[in-house]
Amino acid sequence: MAPLRCPTCRHMFESDYTVAMPFCSERCRQIDLGHWLDEEHSLPLDIEKHLEEQANQPIENDADEDEESW
Ligand SMILES: [Zn+2]
Repeated sequence: MAPLRCPTCRHMFESDYTVAMPFCSERCRQIDLGHWLDEEHSLPLDIEKHLEEQANQPIENDADEDEESW
């Protein structure tokens, strides 16, 4: 069999020795899978989280309370 290059760790490996084609190992397969899932979901989740944080932080009240308590 010709050696293959693992898309995750870039190491050459024999396809005979892996159970996670086209990756050299199950671990590299999981890493690649997680990478794609992260990229797919990071943007909408970040925006949602950002808006949520802004909604939970009334900036005017915070400033007033700080000045009065000191
Ligand atoms: Zn690998």
